[in-house]
Amino acid sequence: MTDKAETLGTLYIVATPIGNLADISQRALDVLSKVDVIACEDTRHTKKLLSAFSISNKTLSLHDHNERQKQEYVASLLQEGKNIALVSDAGTPLISDPGFHLVRYCRELGLQVSPIPGACAAISALSVAGLPTDRFSFEGFLPSKSGARKGVLSSIAHETRTMVFYDAPRRAIDTVTDIVEVLGGERDIVIARELTKTFETIYSDNAQNMLDWLSKDPNQLKGEMVLMISGAPKKDSVITAEVESTLKLLLKELPPKKACGIAAEIYQVNKKELYDLSLSYK
Ligand code: SAM
Repeated sequence: MTDKAETLGTLYIVATPIGNLADISQRALDVLSKVDVIACEDTRHTKKLLSAFSISNKTLSLHDHNERQKQEYVASLLQEGKNIALVSDAGTPLISDPGFHLVRYCRELGLQVSPIPGACAAISALSVAGLPTDRFSFEGFLPSKSGARKGVLSSIAHETRTMVFYDAPRRAIDTVTDIVEVLGGERDIVIARELTKTFETIYSDNAQNMLDWLSKDPNQLKGEMVLMISGAPKKDSVITAEVESTLKLLLKELPPKKACGIAAEIYQVNKKELYDLSLSYK
């Protein structure tokens, strides 16, 4: 393979399909066939993908629990001029998947890291949700325990951008119940389940109706899903950028109640509104 740096190898970050194998790109196949070794989140899983495309190449395992130990070894191979591909079980590595430590380490050493783009569940889900995509916030996995989940939901209650979460469909009823409780039943949500697979389903409704729909159809609680929550409506708030920046400065020095009280007095705005806003900074 040809590299920009002549003697050093390149680390290729290769996206793989999130369900439908036909979504693999020609570049991904070329790179996976030609690199010296493929670092895999799960070698057995990736070997099935490789064999579907008649690729027999060397693999090594690189997952959340050994990434720090393996990064030096991988970097040493790149320094010897070997080319390496990093793949995860599905979709784009590093997106709620291993690879961040390795990529950072290699970039710090000045090694070439190059993306081979392809499927990503979050982006695929956004592309079909019909929610605003001009700005969005990727929030990764929602906590599995209700208390922690409600904490995350309260912290994003005032977020006006579309929010994208990964979650397990078997928890969908619990999650949507918490959304109704924390954000209200009127908030629009979209569930994108089993994308690119046989039972692909994209369903949008407000949170209360979504709960009823999920409760009536156990099939919706299977497989994999992306959950998207529409942003909070933008209010004509008197909380200007100046109020916010003062509040942020005060919050660095003072407990939230005190900081919000002082900012409310200076700018003659509602203290509760400021307090709710301060929770979204956490
Ligand atoms: N790196 C992957 C990516 O680029 O999308 C994500 C890996 S993360 C460990 C796996 C989560 O992605 C699943 O729990 C689910 O929330 C989401 N996901 C993956 N494949 C999906 C699919 N086909 N349909 C819906 N969601 C999917």
